[in-house]
Amino acid sequence: MLIKKDPTFIQAYLEDSSSLKGGCADEVAIPENLEEVSSFLKNANSKKIPVTISGAGTGQAGARIPYGGLVLSTEKLNAIKEIKGLDKDGIASVGAGVLIKDLKETCEKKGLFYTYDPTEQTAFVGGTIATNASGARSFRYGPTRKYVRALTIVLADGSVFSLKKGSIRATGRTLEFEVNKKNYRIKLPSYTMPRTKNSAGYYAKDDMDLIDLFIGQEGTLGVIVEAELAVLKKTKDPFSFFTFFKDEHSAWVFSEDARKARPLSIEYFDQDCLTLLREKYGNVPDGAKAAIFFEDEIIDSEDATLDKWEKLLSGHGISLDDTWVAMNEKTHREFLDRRHYIPERMGEAAKHSGFPKVSTDLAVPNEKLREMLEFYEDNLKESNLRYFVFGHIANAHLHVNMLPSGDSDYNKAKRLQLAFVKKSISLGGTVSAEHGIGKAKREFLKLLYGEKGVKEMLEVKKALDPNLILGRGNIFG
Ligand SMILES: Cc1cc2nc3c(=O)[nH]c(=O)nc-3n(C[C@H](O)[C@H](O)[C@H](O)COP(=O)(O)OP(=O)(O)OC[C@H]3O[C@@H](n4cnc5c(N)ncnc54)[C@H](O)[C@@H]3O)c2cc1C
Repeated sequence: MLIKKDPTFIQAYLEDSSSLKGGCADEVAIPENLEEVSSFLKNANSKKIPVTISGAGTGQAGARIPYGGLVLSTEKLNAIKEIKGLDKDGIASVGAGVLIKDLKETCEKKGLFYTYDPTEQTAFVGGTIATNASGARSFRYGPTRKYVRALTIVLADGSVFSLKKGSIRATGRTLEFEVNKKNYRIKLPSYTMPRTKNSAGYYAKDDMDLIDLFIGQEGTLGVIVEAELAVLKKTKDPFSFFTFFKDEHSAWVFSEDARKARPLSIEYFDQDCLTLLREKYGNVPDGAKAAIFFEDEIIDSEDATLDKWEKLLSGHGISLDDTWVAMNEKTHREFLDRRHYIPERMGEAAKHSGFPKVSTDLAVPNEKLREMLEFYEDNLKESNLRYFVFGHIANAHLHVNMLPSGDSDYNKAKRLQLAFVKKSISLGGTVSAEHGIGKAKREFLKLLYGEKGVKEMLEVKKALDPNLILGRGNIFG
């Protein structure tokens, strides 16, 4: 196992894609197998030294940033062991450090696909399970949780736990199981989770599967070393379009109609996102103030597919001539690059602005989306901040990114962020739909589940990690 103590080496592990600063660690350990992870944790636990688990560092909530102690990097746990299933849906057995991009490419060569399709393809499998990541296509396919079939986990004391989906279930809100001859009895939190996409806090439901507790745990309950993931048989070719609107309201109305047709994804971009898109791809129509990127599969024939969507577009006064349409894999991939370019470019703009970006990851029930969008609009327009609203409108889940340019702007953005969070909760929504709580959103979790809910989560953590060494600062203060 590599152990690195050189401060310049460690530096790369002290940040992620959030704006959190001030991380520090004594060393970075890079285990190459399950046994090394186990002996490393056993040792750290016996000395009560904090350990922060590091994936690829693309997280948006500061969750992999250590504030003292040791970092355990999963980057060398990167074997794609086996992908089974050629004529039907299959199972991929992979290490936690496998890049999502590599998993997807390997599946594709076998005529299969892994459904998780985030903007950021350089995340690790382990990171995406630990945050229950989702993304645009979760509208059709659901989040990562749905595809996890088995996990090999190392608990804080170094014991190895192989857990298959369906093998251990709670009775009501009580989980009982044995690992390495030790009995665990865990009382699950009593809260009701929002019925939206959700990555906020521990999963807790009556009679739930134990595996669900380890999905979305943000490195606080154990190290995921290996995973078995369901992969699907690829049957149809993709098709996508970008369509443009003269105002944002027309795009919202269009998305409501498009959602009824259950496509793969519907993504929304506001006017300032289009400014970014124009910088690189000049042919964005003049006067366009919003766009929808839309993905589906070619059903029956290209003509039949086009016909179906042309009807929907023309019903909203949009001509196919003003729409970018991709009917083959190559152009579709180009369109995905365009869609992905927007948040990437926004991230760069935020890094260069000198002030931390202030962002949200809120999802509300579908029927409340319009109210949420109007709330964003009213508050953002009068704020004079630079901002971008974009993302997964099909799931009523949009990201608001505010880019302050000074202290007073920053404070204003923080106030707005809090107002948006409160509004989301009041509408039955979540405080984090896909990025997790990490260190950046702990206060929001308290607003969602109350002090009581957070205390109940802490009891779960204490049962599995009594010395509280794992992922310090994540979820809990
Ligand atoms: C441009 C951009 C676009 C993005 N788009 C999306 C999107 O569409 N959908 C989405 O869901 N997210 C998106 N993200 C966020 C990010 O990619 C995800 O949160 C991703 O799941 C993080 O994976 P990672 O490997 O980088 O994890 P890290 O950032 O390294 O870690 C995240 C958390 O997981 C824990 N962790 C990591 N590995 C393990 C492990 N093996 N065992 C236990 N805990 C572990 C860490 O301790 C930490 O708490 C985006 C980020 C960027 C920068």
